[in-house]
Amino acid sequence: MIPVTTFRGRKVALFGLGGSGLATAEALVAGGAEVTAWDDNPDSVAKAAAAGVPTADLRTVEWAAFAAFVLSPGVPLTHPKPHWTVDLAHAAGVEIIGDVELFVRERRAHSPDCPFIAITGTNGKSTTTALIAHILRESGRDTQLGGNIGTAVLTLESPKAGRFYVVECSSYQIDLAPTLNPTAGILLNLTPDHLDRHGTMQHYADIKERLVAGSGTAIVGVDDSFSALIADRVERAGTRTVRISRRHVLANGLYAEGSRIMRAEGGTASLFVDLDGIQTLRGGHNAQNAAAAIAACLAVGVSEAEIRAGLKSFPGLKHRMQPVGRKGAVVFVNDSKATNADAAAPALSSYERIYWIAGGLPKEGGITTLAPFFPKIVKAYLIGEAAPAFAATLGEAVPYEISGTLEQAVAHAAAEAGKDEAGPSAVMLSPACASFDQYKNFEVRGDAFVGHVRAIEGVTMLI
Ligand code: ADP
Repeated sequence: MIPVTTFRGRKVALFGLGGSGLATAEALVAGGAEVTAWDDNPDSVAKAAAAGVPTADLRTVEWAAFAAFVLSPGVPLTHPKPHWTVDLAHAAGVEIIGDVELFVRERRAHSPDCPFIAITGTNGKSTTTALIAHILRESGRDTQLGGNIGTAVLTLESPKAGRFYVVECSSYQIDLAPTLNPTAGILLNLTPDHLDRHGTMQHYADIKERLVAGSGTAIVGVDDSFSALIADRVERAGTRTVRISRRHVLANGLYAEGSRIMRAEGGTASLFVDLDGIQTLRGGHNAQNAAAAIAACLAVGVSEAEIRAGLKSFPGLKHRMQPVGRKGAVVFVNDSKATNADAAAPALSSYERIYWIAGGLPKEGGITTLAPFFPKIVKAYLIGEAAPAFAATLGEAVPYEISGTLEQAVAHAAAEAGKDEAGPSAVMLSPACASFDQYKNFEVRGDAFVGHVRAIEGVTMLI
């Protein structure tokens, strides 16, 4: 745990006592802050109290006494409307921050030279974060990995000289981190997502921009227009900027030509590494992730040879285009992490005959952008709340059934793919939807998929 010493002896309000919220409250208490914590869920309040965190209903307290209000990133700051605690904090003029900001202040106070890499973007954050941490660890560096990827940042070890931090940041966390200043900051890409929580695309992009604007080296994927403009702006403001592209040749920066990652300087390019044969980094999307990881590692002083070695041994991440089982010519692929259409596209582009399990809690825009892949889909098996809308989009173009549950979908898809004599095929869960209508989160959904695959007679598991 990183005890938060920067609020020692001062009063701090905190709302949101779920996973990272409770860890944050404990880190504040451990550092000597006078915490008043609360949550709308009485069970979470009871759990915090049992862990030694002082609690009180924040409707009944004197807000003017607080030095800061620490908000959980899951609680609305602006959209669809500010949470009631946010209104109270604003009314009392109390600054609103989150756990990443507390980490940033701790680092600044105690070990400002600790290399710190922060990663954001709409898609590819976790893969890139894990890849960078893997390269650093494999090269023998003391590496702490956390943030939005699942380990609350304040549960990591405290900053000290020579310790590297690799922290995935959601836009919510950036929104609550006004002085975020990583050594190297990555913005991978920007496509519409979470607009329910950010209002407009411009507002969403503005938040993401803050991460690279505050960085020592700004690493920006320039394949979408929002990110390209951000790279130009950040560079004009005087920040060292490294551009990344998976689509275009760049005069300066790192770009992909198929699986080859090229490094260009002043219009001259040379091959940095070829990702061909690295199963866990297949596809153009992973070329973008790898290029960003390379740029970040170079920015914090990792040698080229160390980077190449780390890329080659990357074990990949669960729930992201992960082959989990095989039966005859059918491979079963868990891509549960694909919670929107853009995230599902890479998986659909990577296989030729697809028995596609999709659906869940729909996101804005549905699956219309996936139409170019429809000819590769032998049949779709639709689950969850999105099923009727997805069926309407598929229309006459793709045969489908409304399976309802994942269990039915896997059973039907496996049976039908097993009879397919036209060539190797994939039964793939790449839902293009959030999971919350049927599952606690995408991990539980992916694990359920793996469980249903395991139950298929004659299947050989690959994990
Ligand atoms: P995030 O943490 O941003 O949600 P992940 O690294 O967990 O992203 O990847 C989630 C899914 O998004 C992957 O399974 C893949 O299908 C897709 N994806 C990964 N990287 C990219 C990228 N650079 N661009 C577009 N899609 C990507």
